[in-house]
Amino acid sequence: MEKLTDYKEIADIIKEKGGDSFKYCYQCGKCDVVCPWNQVRDFSMRKLVRQGNFGMSEIEGEDIWLCTTCGQCTVACPREVKQVEAGIAIRRIATDYGIYSASADPVRAIRSNLSSDGNPLEGERDKRGDWAEGHSVKPFDKKMEILYFPGCYLSYDPRLKKVAVATANILNKAGVSFGILGSKENCCGESIRKTGDEELYLQLAKENIKTFIDHGVKRILVSSPHCYETFKNEYPEFMVNFEIVHIAQYLDELIRDGRLKLPGEYKKKITYHDPCYLGRHNGIYEEPRNVLQNVKALELNEMAESRQESFCCGGGGGRIWMDTPKGERFSDIRVQQAMETGAEVLVTACPYCIANFEDSLISRKEGEGIEVKDITEIIADVI
Ligand code: SF4
Ligand code: SF4
Repeated sequence: MEKLTDYKEIADIIKEKGGDSFKYCYQCGKCDVVCPWNQVRDFSMRKLVRQGNFGMSEIEGEDIWLCTTCGQCTVACPREVKQVEAGIAIRRIATDYGIYSASADPVRAIRSNLSSDGNPLEGERDKRGDWAEGHSVKPFDKKMEILYFPGCYLSYDPRLKKVAVATANILNKAGVSFGILGSKENCCGESIRKTGDEELYLQLAKENIKTFIDHGVKRILVSSPHCYETFKNEYPEFMVNFEIVHIAQYLDELIRDGRLKLPGEYKKKITYHDPCYLGRHNGIYEEPRNVLQNVKALELNEMAESRQESFCCGGGGGRIWMDTPKGERFSDIRVQQAMETGAEVLVTACPYCIANFEDSLISRKEGEGIEVKDITEIIADVI
């Protein structure tokens, strides 16, 4: 622990671990203005950046674990400080020392589950593909068009398995030749990397890459924007380039190519929530809207904070595994914003958003809720 008091050394470690862009900060505070934390409690990314520059990061405190990596501050910053990367660099130091704050403590157990069973949900590895039973889903074969990679939450979480099933039904209806890896699939590693655990991320990523190569995978369909982010933008660090497509993009493609017809009606008012890792981080705003606007009788009303300004659900950066007290949950605010549009259904395209929104609904009074659906669940209803 002696090294923690050596300010120069900490500054060097932050730089080494990817936090070099801190030096461009001139403390304007625009990041703090847009950060969603400041709607629920005090938190200053500007202060973290300043401390990092001087090698004075307080790695034993709560603050370094708060960032959801939503990317709002990166968009607002006039000096191109990469706050997300820099914040993760500080977490890497804490992780190396095994220091977790009270709210981040659950990450310890998550690491162990990821390491032993390849998922954060205590699911048995052998049961990863069980969701697909009875839904005409085959094991992936290299002659198939596309590998479907549902990811951890859609494979094990009872609510989110419905999204995997809806996806499989749509793919079958459109005549897509697809398969899954089942028990050979591993967590993509995106979120554990954002908690600062680079070593475990590398282990998961390498195992997945080997499996993809061994199975002759070329094109991968994902349901989670977090899998999308890491496969598309981070796995190329290993000199591989699989073609990655998110289900919102793929539905748009299938409809445009005339392979997927939507004969049914969906007579409801909906609003669409842009997940941070689909929208702000990857610029996928129009495809999900195109898909929804192809549904007969559906009325789409936008929330005030949409597209690049979308308000984070609170689940990124590994926060999905951390404790967030009532009164500080971003998803509560987002559900309220959705209801204010008059929508009956809040539609999104990310398992973390769905999990957080469903949790927020539990704390609302009976009859004061809104339905929460993945985009695939809307489409599966009208095919
Ligand atoms: S917006 Fe950028 S330059 Fe301004 S305080 Fe934040 S990190 Fe520094
Ligand atoms: S990425 Fe989002 S949560 Fe993190 S500091 Fe920036 S605005 Fe705040």
